[in-house]
Amino acid sequence: MRLATITNWAYGATLVLTLTSGVTMLLASDAHERERAAVAHRYALDRATTALGKTMFLSADHARQFVVTGDPVYRLLHESDRDSRVDVDARIAPVAQAGAMPDELHLLREAIRLSQTMDGQQRAAILAYQRGDFTTARTLLFGGAHERELDRAKTMLEQLQAQIETRTAGQIEQATRFARLWRSISEAVIAITALLFLAVLYFIFKQRVLRPVIRLSDVVTRLAAQDFSAIPPQLSQIDEIGDMAAAIDIFRTNGLERQRLEAERDRDLAMRDLLARMTQRMQACDNLADLLAIARRFAPQIAPTLAGRLYLLDSGSGALGAACEWFGPKGSVDAFAPSACWALRRSQPHRPAGRAVDIPCAHLHPVDGQLPDTLCLPLTAHGEILGLLYLEPRAGTAPEHEGTPSPYLGMLAENIGLALANLRLREALQALAMADALTGLPNRRQLDERLATLRATAAPAHASIACLMLDVDHFKRFNDEFGHDAGDVVLRAVGQALADSTRGAGDAYRFGGEEFTVLLSVPVHQAVARAEAIRTRIAELDVRHEGKALGPVTISIGVAATPEHGAVDQLIATADAALLRAKRQGRNRVEVARPSSRRAA
Ligand code: GH3
Ligand code: MG
Ligand code: MG
Repeated sequence: MRLATITNWAYGATLVLTLTSGVTMLLASDAHERERAAVAHRYALDRATTALGKTMFLSADHARQFVVTGDPVYRLLHESDRDSRVDVDARIAPVAQAGAMPDELHLLREAIRLSQTMDGQQRAAILAYQRGDFTTARTLLFGGAHERELDRAKTMLEQLQAQIETRTAGQIEQATRFARLWRSISEAVIAITALLFLAVLYFIFKQRVLRPVIRLSDVVTRLAAQDFSAIPPQLSQIDEIGDMAAAIDIFRTNGLERQRLEAERDRDLAMRDLLARMTQRMQACDNLADLLAIARRFAPQIAPTLAGRLYLLDSGSGALGAACEWFGPKGSVDAFAPSACWALRRSQPHRPAGRAVDIPCAHLHPVDGQLPDTLCLPLTAHGEILGLLYLEPRAGTAPEHEGTPSPYLGMLAENIGLALANLRLREALQALAMADALTGLPNRRQLDERLATLRATAAPAHASIACLMLDVDHFKRFNDEFGHDAGDVVLRAVGQALADSTRGAGDAYRFGGEEFTVLLSVPVHQAVARAEAIRTRIAELDVRHEGKALGPVTISIGVAATPEHGAVDQLIATADAALLRAKRQGRNRVEVARPSSRRAA
């Protein structure tokens, strides 16, 4: 039963009991009144009958006193008594008014008549006395007849009084009983009313004040300790406690919202930190393998519910090929043309099974009979397509699981795209810095790096490394005779011949001007043979510029090798010295460096 209903019932019962106690109080008061009236009635009757008896016997007494003493005062007193005895009705009236019953009044009337009869005898006796007939007078008053009359009157009066006594005593007793009963009822009802009122008061205090306040206090304590699982009671009461409950509820809602925002902010910070760390590491990559390893390491952390694959555009074939993947994606082929992907066609993220109706890409294929909820994110930089980040739900994750919000996926793709572009740019710049623009051969810088690497790796293993220093003979002549462009043509032809001659066996470098270097991983005697072959090949070149033959091109070569001619860092200088000798000894020839012991000597 609802609290309000109980309270209403209690109010109603209290009201009824209050009215009942009022009525019983009135009834008790009435009964008391009647009890008082019965007592008064009895007293009035008692007084009236006593007065009558008294008059009757006083009158007889006065007549007797006169007859005995002859004192006229008694005769006068008897006269005055007689006056009061004349009218029967007048004498009955006070008794009737006092509430005597008809049979009682009848008895009274009889007694009065008897007293009147006696009065006649008394008067006769007085007259006889006045005549001097004393004997008659005495006989009349003191005779047996008069005495009997008096006894009879007395008996009648006593009978009347006894009758009245019996009747009024019953009435008084009944009235007293009623008065007592109603008083008890009234007191009981008042007591019950008071008890009920106190019970209702206690119930209301406990239910509407004490209990809600205790519950609210508990909730407030828990909320203060950041325990937002504490739910404030839903109080419908419209009072200060209801207001307090509503305020606490608002406080809790705000706290929950703040907690949610804080959790969201923490998640956002963690995600951004992850993305930033991935980007920083990618920026430091100088090769694609490292970049892919980083992507494979970070992407599953950023989107743990998604399987993914990174496709890279092969500029040679123009197709996209899978470069790396995580969590085993199944819904996309390994290689496809850019036109097969709507994300690449539109340079926009594409999610065909998303909320909006969209067309699936041609590179997708069904998994277990249906296309997965895929997301293609183009990897672009400066408007150029570099690849594609392909994502699909990871096998074993619940579909309703809240995945990584798409802005983070967008950032993931963007950062990978930028890192790829950076790497490409770096590779392009490196290629520019390392290659010689005229001949296409690696330049001196690359030679130095290569020698540094060899110094660090090959030397301890005592590997054979041969160095050929080549110089075009009388090159200045080509410039002077045919112009600078013709000189360039000669250099390009020599470079090409060197590249062809060393392919698969070593590396040719443009050292500077019309000088070249060749590094071969062969023993010195093989290097000499290879140098001789190179010299012969170049001597056989038919170099032409603007249709004109530029004449024979010859080169001189100095050969040095480890370990015969010293360490790696001495190779260039030693080979250069051998080259100088070749020049001095007539050019178009190969000279081998002298062994290091002899040079030292
Ligand atoms: P030697 O047989 O003693 O080596 O004589 P040489 O003429 O080949 O040597 P020299 O050092 O006297 O001349 C080299 C010339 O090469 C000088 C320079 O102008 C020219 N040269 C250097 N680099 C280039 C280039 O890239 N293109 C052209 N066309 N000429 C260059
Ligand atoms: Mg030179
Ligand atoms: Mg030269």
